[in-house]
Amino acid sequence: MIKVSGLFKQFGDLKVLNNVNIEIKKGEVVVIIGPSGSGKSTLLRCLNLLEEPTDGEIIFEGMSIRSKNNNIDLQRQKMGMVFQQFNLFPHLNVLDNITISPIKVKGVSKEEAKNIALDLLRKIGLEDKINAYPQNLSGGQKQRIAIARALAMSPDVMLFDEPTSALDPEMVGEVLEVMKSLAKEGMTMVVVTHEMAFAKEVADRIIFMDEGNIIEEGTAEEIFSLPKNKRTKDFLSKLL
Ligand code: ADP
Ligand code: MG
Repeated sequence: MIKVSGLFKQFGDLKVLNNVNIEIKKGEVVVIIGPSGSGKSTLLRCLNLLEEPTDGEIIFEGMSIRSKNNNIDLQRQKMGMVFQQFNLFPHLNVLDNITISPIKVKGVSKEEAKNIALDLLRKIGLEDKINAYPQNLSGGQKQRIAIARALAMSPDVMLFDEPTSALDPEMVGEVLEVMKSLAKEGMTMVVVTHEMAFAKEVADRIIFMDEGNIIEEGTAEEIFSLPKNKRTKDFLSKLL
């Protein structure tokens, strides 16, 4: 579904991604781990061109996303993104947060968009919050709504950038549960997270990044039980 080849990203003189190569297959759940500043967010942001790569190729569903005749808006619609900081629209209630993009961007009718929103709210257990405003929701509820909002566009892949890092500990579980059920339904997911138990349970593949490179990748078993690289070992030992 996604193929990244020779991806480089620099901010001025700062080299943030140095020749990153990855493939993500349809239905796969890939978890990216690594120290702060290693380029994880930049990599995700390059995937949907929130950042312009300095060099390299990103192919999404057979189409180079940097090619001139590519419709990046259409491709972005197919990539849902969930951020650490929720980024809900504060002036819109839950229903409007979820339906605004399907209506405005995809031209879905108001009625159909509402039905989609209701289905999603039922799934995440927040039907009763349909008229609530973000300021009256807990962090965990806001993040579940942010996931529903992304799903309302029927994306082909979901990108998560530390979706539970800004949450109080007691709210982490409810967000991870939503992500787990999404994974079980076969959604293609790329997840940057420090939640190692989640990674163990859900990831088909774990990628360890350091200093703008993929240092090691493998199954949870391979990465957690038998890390080959010293940097992977050091990183994991600090988490325990
Ligand atoms: P991670 O998500 O792994 O913590 P990031 O991708 O956010 O890492 O950042 C990698 C490096 O790139 C960091 O040194 C960060 O300060 C730098 N960086 C990220 N975004 C920008 C930007 N827009 N301008 C300048 N430097 C940036
Ligand atoms: Mg980050």
